[in-house]
Amino acid sequence: MKNYLLLFSFLLILLGCKNDIDTTIKEDKLNSVQNEFAIIIHGGAGTILKKNMSDEKEAAYKAKLEEAIKVGHTILKNGGTSAEAVMKTIQVMEESPLFNAGKGAVFTHEETNELDASFMDGKTLNAGAVAGVTNVKSPIELAIKVMTDSDHVMLSGKGASVFAKEKGLEIVDPSYFYTERRFKSLQRIKNRNKTELDHDDKKAAFYDADIKNAKFGTVGCVALDKNGNIAAGTSTGGMTNKRWGRIGDAPIIGSGTYANNLTCGVSSTGWGEYFIRSQVAYDISAQMEYQQKTLKEATKDVIQNKLTKLGGTGGVVALDKKGNMSFEFNTAGMYRASMDEKGNLVVKIYKE
Ligand code: ASP
Repeated sequence: MKNYLLLFSFLLILLGCKNDIDTTIKEDKLNSVQNEFAIIIHGGAGTILKKNMSDEKEAAYKAKLEEAIKVGHTILKNGGTSAEAVMKTIQVMEESPLFNAGKGAVFTHEETNELDASFMDGKTLNAGAVAGVTNVKSPIELAIKVMTDSDHVMLSGKGASVFAKEKGLEIVDPSYFYTERRFKSLQRIKNRNKTELDHDDKKAAFYDADIKNAKFGTVGCVALDKNGNIAAGTSTGGMTNKRWGRIGDAPIIGSGTYANNLTCGVSSTGWGEYFIRSQVAYDISAQMEYQQKTLKEATKDVIQNKLTKLGGTGGVVALDKKGNMSFEFNTAGMYRASMDEKGNLVVKIYKE
């Protein structure tokens, strides 16, 4: 009996030590600095398959992602702020017709372009967002202005344009956002919907037919600067054929964008309704804060487990306070790139 008691106590001590070791390993993982500064971007997720992509198109996407991320990386390397890096990087993608943000944004049912964007500062937890903007060249710049120059977090439609004008931001004719490719894709969807609406599946018809061929194309960026400040931003035209002033997750703080210096920064892309219902970006930060999960564990759980179970598709790019970076998506592909402090560049489109 005495021997059993001794053995039992010995086992208990061993178990205790193991837990200590586990905790230490986890803390080490969390505390080890990977990068003094870093930057990660996406240009949208969806059914992006190699077989549907020409070599030229693939090269064009990769070149633009590389150009954009290098703009932000240079800012960070020279000691600039993560806010500036995020804005300037996103602007390169907003100005490119390749992505569904700024020029090249998708069309609404009424054949207009209505743009959404948001930005969050991880140091102050301050944020700015705009929705349904039709004539402001850079929605991400406007989102940042809402944060810095107004008492509000989110402005929409005409009011947002008035604010932009007052603040001296560049106003463009709505035709600036037009691209033939996006216009044709709206026509294709509308024509297809006419037949599909005769059957009883209006919901599927509304959302870009069957999403299978939808390439969302939103853009986003998360950066960590040399002062340890994280910033995140997202900019989009939303979803093709959207109507009734529909607004997705991109301008919703906590869904499309989130940043907190204590945890991480996140930018999302995908089927916005699911990202709003799942509070994707904030959930990743919360899992790190409350459950001490690593960035990888948190992004994986939110995208591959929770979002997927709900039926949502898309992905995120995220970066933590130590400069660890994560791409996580449940679609066939996501236009994405990252760059660390040493200048190591990763540019990818498909799943590995
Ligand atoms: N999340 C965006 C939205 O639902 C679309 C996208 O990511 O491309 O508006």
